[in-house]
Amino acid sequence: MSEILVLVDHVDGAVRKPTFELLTIAKRLGEPSAVFIGGADKADAAAEAVKKYGAEKVYVVDDTEIKGYLVAPKAEVLQQIAAQANPAAILITSGAEGKEIAGRLAIKLESGLITDAVDVQEGPVTTQSVFAGNFTVKAKVTKGTPIITVKPNAAAPEESAGAGAVEKFSATISDSAKKAQIVASQPREATGRPELTEAAIVVSGGRGTGGNFEPVENFADSLGAAVGASRAAVDSGWKPHAFQIGQTGKTVSPQLYVAAGISGAIQHRAGMQTSKTIVAVNKDEEAPIFELVDFGVVGDLHTVLPAATAEVTKRK
Ligand code: FAD
Repeated sequence: MSEILVLVDHVDGAVRKPTFELLTIAKRLGEPSAVFIGGADKADAAAEAVKKYGAEKVYVVDDTEIKGYLVAPKAEVLQQIAAQANPAAILITSGAEGKEIAGRLAIKLESGLITDAVDVQEGPVTTQSVFAGNFTVKAKVTKGTPIITVKPNAAAPEESAGAGAVEKFSATISDSAKKAQIVASQPREATGRPELTEAAIVVSGGRGTGGNFEPVENFADSLGAAVGASRAAVDSGWKPHAFQIGQTGKTVSPQLYVAAGISGAIQHRAGMQTSKTIVAVNKDEEAPIFELVDFGVVGDLHTVLPAATAEVTKRK
């Protein structure tokens, strides 16, 4: 069976959920192999983690030489592993870094690239939601090794034991890949909430909050959700840009998206309409967001959300 390479997305060795989703997808397409680029001391734990989601092989690349540089060396590592493994596809998590690695890799391998897939089936045939969600596109790479970046939450991670055979891979990094260097990095402020783009539930607030995000945040916390915002809320200075969802913000695709006090402008929809279930709370029953929802509540979010929070808390 053909190998499917999955680039492991991790923070200091802690494998992030989107990688388990990619491994689940890889299993549909062939034999999943994980590529872990990180400190050798973190490799064992990472290999254990990916093995539980079906990784038959784990390529471990010590990052001593790579750490401190931007993404170019990672593309070179993948190119070299691909030359050895001749995989049927390479899957990478969609995100700023993942997409840059994928783009560079596609040039190196002279392969076709598909970004932001929301589903990948045998073929591999991908599904993308494009033009602010107005079209759903099925696509297939026709040249070289298919390189596909997949949005978080595209698949529910399914545990399935793999052999997890560790293979230490020694890569050669070119001088040109070391031309851009990280000079400082600042960890994201710890909120105790999941990361917005990978959260299973997102609760967002818009102009309708009037700047009071407390009901949105309390409801999010009762559900273990991430908090998002519309551009109107961000432009008003109520939340930083990192919270913005939409065309000029982040794209999310959670199991459940709750839009509170958000009208549903096309630019906002572009960032959330591939969510599996959409719920809106809006006091205007004519608000466009209601065209999109699975479940809508016409009411004041300052009343509806605290009532919903109390109900969720009671049932815990
Ligand atoms: P509004 O449209 O003002 O809607 C507020 C809603 O809250 C209304 O429907 C109202 O009925 C409801 N409401 C008011 N009070 C309450 C209450 N107490 N309880 C319940 N409901 C209440 N927008 C984004 O979100 N993300 C983007 O990335 C983005 N990119 C853009 C890019 C471009 C190039 C442009 C031109 C625009 C972009 N926008 C983006 C802006 C977008 O067009 C809308 O202006 C914005 O999404 C509106 O935000 P909103 O829904 O919070 O505000």
